[in-house]
Amino acid sequence: MPELRKDPVVGRWVIISTERSRRPTNFEPAPVVKSTGFCPFCPGNEDKTPPEVYALRPGGGPPNGPGWRVRVVPNKFPALQIEGTLDRRGEGLYDKMNGVGAHEVVIETPDHAVDLADLPVAHVAEVLEAYRARVVDLSRDRRLRYVLIFKNHGANAGATLEHTHTQLIATPIIPRILQEELDGSRRYFELKERCVFCDIVAQETAAGNGRRVVATSERFVALAPFAPRFPFETWILPRRHDAAYQMVADEGELLDLARLLKDVLMRLNLALDRPPYNFVIHTSPVSDGDLEYYHWHIEIMPKLTRVAGFEIGSGFYINPTPPEDAAQFLRGITLEV
Ligand SMILES: [Zn+2]
Ligand SMILES: [Zn+2]
Ligand SMILES: [Zn+2]
Repeated sequence: MPELRKDPVVGRWVIISTERSRRPTNFEPAPVVKSTGFCPFCPGNEDKTPPEVYALRPGGGPPNGPGWRVRVVPNKFPALQIEGTLDRRGEGLYDKMNGVGAHEVVIETPDHAVDLADLPVAHVAEVLEAYRARVVDLSRDRRLRYVLIFKNHGANAGATLEHTHTQLIATPIIPRILQEELDGSRRYFELKERCVFCDIVAQETAAGNGRRVVATSERFVALAPFAPRFPFETWILPRRHDAAYQMVADEGELLDLARLLKDVLMRLNLALDRPPYNFVIHTSPVSDGDLEYYHWHIEIMPKLTRVAGFEIGSGFYINPTPPEDAAQFLRGITLEV
């Protein structure tokens, strides 16, 4: 059973993987499995993953066989385990609990050779719907407080399998970065009685402004944030106030989001020659529902610089690309339709 341990000074929780402890020689960088090798995510290999928890099979057919367009399975090597109780306990001044949670993989397409950005808009929307369905399902588990959806694309962004996929980790605690966003946006709301993210969207898209806007759609805005940590960091925010990602309910909204997400990923691919990247969906904690002060969003972070000593030691980031320049560059890219 993995263990969650809390730093007694700053309150940061870490996951200690007690069972898969690595020896010093086990830390060589893991190569991304190449297309010539065996791939557990390809059709025909459904029995090589744990049994699916979600699948889109437009043509029907039994679970755990081919015929799917999007498939979600538990991670074979989970960071947290779904079985068991939290068993919160202390050890002297330290706090810890069992590493209970969910760790799932969203296999975005049966096609091994494509990336998320290459999929048709309707298929990207099906992937986004799979995220939503899993968040809704995991929200029913009373032990879990947060569901983080994240994507590692490319070996330098942490992907260990080439076949395009997204991951989801549901945790019994609210991750620290989310807690900081929740606290900060609540303070802003207490002061101004407005959502800070709604204000950001309004200000960045106001007439005569738009220096940091990358692309827009009917219901969403993609922009370079005012204080980005990374070059070409891009956020996608809904224009309408919603605290939780799963509020994206109707198909029109999913398609609109899919269109803008694909648009942004294609711009980054063209501008930066298909860079490795991470994206995360920041949404409200599962039990908090529709907070008036928090506003869900996607943060896309191309992996162009290395996080090094200064960033690790200070939490400060040095970003060599002003967001106004990054947005201008990405806006200027002509996408082939
Ligand atoms: Zn594959
Ligand atoms: Zn808002
Ligand atoms: Zn965020």
